[in-house]
Amino acid sequence: MRNPIHDILFEPVRLGPVTAPNRFYQVPHCTGMGHRYPQSEAAHRGVKAAGGWGVVSTQETEIHPTSDITPANEARLWDDRDIPALRLVTDAVHEHGSLAAIQLVHNGLHSANRYSRRIPLAPSDAPVDSDDPVNARMMDKADIRAFRRWHVDAARRSKAAGFDIVYVYAGHDMTLLQHFLLQRHNHRTDEYGGSLQNRLRLFREVIADTRDAVGDTCAIAVRFAVEELLGPEGIRHDVEAREVIEALAEEPDLWDVNMSDWSNDSQTSRFAKEGYQEPYTEFVKSVTTRPVVGVGRYTSSDTMVRLVRQGKLDMIGAARPSIADPYLPRKIDEGRLEEIRECIGCNICVSGDNTSVPFRCTQNPTAGEEWRRGWHPEIITQPNRTEAYLVIGGGPAGLEAARTLVKAGNDVIVAEASDRWGGRVTIESQLPGLAEWARVRDWRMWQLRQVQNAELYLNSPLSATDVLEYGTANVAIATGSCWRGDGAGRTHRRPLAFLQSGHVLTPDNAMQGGLEQDVATGPIVIFDDDLFYLGSALAEVAAATGRRVVFVTPAPIVAPWSKFTLEQHRIQKRLMDLDVEIVPNSKLAGMDATSLTLECVYSGRTRQIDCGTLVPVTARLPNDQLWTDLGARQADWQDAGLRKVTRIGDCYAPGLIAAAVHAGHEYAREAMGMDTVLREDMNGNV
Ligand code: ADP
Ligand code: SF4
Repeated sequence: MRNPIHDILFEPVRLGPVTAPNRFYQVPHCTGMGHRYPQSEAAHRGVKAAGGWGVVSTQETEIHPTSDITPANEARLWDDRDIPALRLVTDAVHEHGSLAAIQLVHNGLHSANRYSRRIPLAPSDAPVDSDDPVNARMMDKADIRAFRRWHVDAARRSKAAGFDIVYVYAGHDMTLLQHFLLQRHNHRTDEYGGSLQNRLRLFREVIADTRDAVGDTCAIAVRFAVEELLGPEGIRHDVEAREVIEALAEEPDLWDVNMSDWSNDSQTSRFAKEGYQEPYTEFVKSVTTRPVVGVGRYTSSDTMVRLVRQGKLDMIGAARPSIADPYLPRKIDEGRLEEIRECIGCNICVSGDNTSVPFRCTQNPTAGEEWRRGWHPEIITQPNRTEAYLVIGGGPAGLEAARTLVKAGNDVIVAEASDRWGGRVTIESQLPGLAEWARVRDWRMWQLRQVQNAELYLNSPLSATDVLEYGTANVAIATGSCWRGDGAGRTHRRPLAFLQSGHVLTPDNAMQGGLEQDVATGPIVIFDDDLFYLGSALAEVAAATGRRVVFVTPAPIVAPWSKFTLEQHRIQKRLMDLDVEIVPNSKLAGMDATSLTLECVYSGRTRQIDCGTLVPVTARLPNDQLWTDLGARQADWQDAGLRKVTRIGDCYAPGLIAAAVHAGHEYAREAMGMDTVLREDMNGNV
């Protein structure tokens, strides 16, 4: 039953000609499913509506071939042929009584138009903002008229596709309308450039055009970035942003306000906590009477209530919290707060879009699999016959497998070797800034502790003999992985024998107090060949010991893969702020007790640096001894009662935490015979 304190979140909100059933607003966010996987896209949005989000938005939707950000896979409304794919989305959303919103976009100089081969458009002549050797062309008056017409056409098509809310979008440093607003992009001298009034002319015109075209039945939402964290080079919330909102205050039916660029809007938990946008967006309501929606990785219902009560927001916007838990509103409505699967702020979802594939979520393994595999985030059908399972290992893979099996009514024993649950998540969540990652463990443990059909044992390292003695029919081995200490990985494909001549700590050791307890003197050298987050996180731990820290990597920058989670520049800056010496483009060529020899990956030139302790962050190996031992005793399985033994998660192949959670879920569904894999073409045909 709903706690009355939350009633305010379930009040309807009038948005021009339409009414949202409550204050939960899934703001536009990309999914990597876009125009290429319309069935998947529709199913994902439909689940959000079923979960109680009063408004469910698409991702940005390109309005014209001059706004083609291929290979990114956004939605598309280039012409009438794109309407049916989007109709799938509105049908899926309307089925549950929610409103469907569409975020129309022209990407301006953000799109290189690799597929359409059209010349990009911009307020002024300029290179596009990717590395493509492509220039955008300054729009003349005819181009401006054409753009306004395309936007109107797209708005009409949106209405025809059934959308209730149509966006005019100026944000993320990715949209033509924002490019016109920004002095750094708009160097025009005509009535569309110069003063702020001139720079916002096109924005104002397009809002009016859109209202004229579809405003009789559709609400007009304006998404506007109020802060770019660029000082005078960009929009500042307390300077130009306020003037823009004052100038257009009552023109939209809804203000959707946020920070720009995307890395500021979708900050990770390593760098920002819940509510990080509040100081920048809270002024908006004082300048307009129109409803305001804002975001900030909100997962706490208390915070949501406070934001509405204090008059800071009318609607609680969410992208990532709605991905991690599509049923968040319903759980608040039904007083099931503990069941909310809170986003951990890791941005693995964002990496899906940035690598042009359907996204995945660390917390919610069903995200992106709703249609393709028929996975629902909440509903797991009871199998015809429940069975007994033994899950070995209480990390993310084992815990997700166990909680899914238990939810379907099976009897599950989970045996964990150590004295704590969570495996690598427990260890990594103790690294600087990563505390929220422990939610992966906590949500699953909470679920498992509520039920009678789960037996949970710590301090239980199982051998093959133990497993045979248990005699459980189904065995899942989720025993994880361990980091190598021999230097082998991407760059050095074979172990480096010379590491035996120096002092080496493995990342597992370094993560669990090894650096703090290390008695060696001399610099700590992190050799990062893993290229994601761990090397830099260990450099932060190393810096806290007070010893000199050197970060060596074969890559030209620190943690290059973290650009997909929008963190790379923040990580690089953090290491610089901590006075970590960064040595790029280098691999290992030799080692003794006090020094390392580095070799330039391009020139082959070598040089020596001081080194007291080396932490090689290169690769992991599966902990598959139990699997091997059980395999050797397969002849005994039948007598013991074992039917099927399966390796899952890092023990099968080390990967992301998201991959381990997904593997645990997949195992449970497959074991119960509840998995299908569908394929579709770009028109949504199966
Ligand atoms: P994953 O990401 O695949 O879930 P983790 O490394 O996070 O992998 O977790 C694996 C867990 O399995 C660790 O907590 C580890 O202590 C536990 N474990 C490893 N070997 C055994 C074993 N033989 N018996 C029980 N638990 C084990
Ligand atoms: Fe949140 Fe990470 Fe899931 Fe994205 S992938 S929704 S950041 S938990």
